[in-house]
Amino acid sequence: MSRRKILISACLLGENVKYDGGNNALHVTILERWKDEGVLVPLCPEVLGGLSVPRPACEVLQGTNRVVNRIGEDVSEAFSKGAKESLRIAKLEGVCMAILKARSPSCGKDIIYDGTFTSTRVNDSGITCKLLQESGIVVFSEEELCLAEAFWHAKGNDPL
Ligand code: SF4
Repeated sequence: MSRRKILISACLLGENVKYDGGNNALHVTILERWKDEGVLVPLCPEVLGGLSVPRPACEVLQGTNRVVNRIGEDVSEAFSKGAKESLRIAKLEGVCMAILKARSPSCGKDIIYDGTFTSTRVNDSGITCKLLQESGIVVFSEEELCLAEAFWHAKGNDPL
């Protein structure tokens, strides 16, 4: 029987796709195990949307789906494209849950920055996170790995 898959922000697996050219690699046992089991689907919505690495930092304008970068350009279209492409891949791969990088304007769940580039946080989610959730995919941040693991096992996915 085919197993379901887990979408994951590529930067969490050490891919250098962050706006500054770096990554957010997390070296934890559960991610190593899922990687070895072949259930992870890593992607970067901003790269899928056509943005370069490196790129200026971006933030969602509070209360909207519009995204601007630090030099004042409107990058909403690239963010929307990246979100749709992420969803397309998720469906193709049979993804049932996602682990996304906290506070990113694409991947952030529940808390992101407010669009003023002043490190001000607001209760909202990134563009890709919202689209995945609206499509029925359960999202966890990398700060909720225990919850993610419990959900995965509740879905009947025992370790190989
Ligand atoms: Fe990581 Fe998501 Fe930002 Fe890409 S868009 S660098 S995957 S947090």
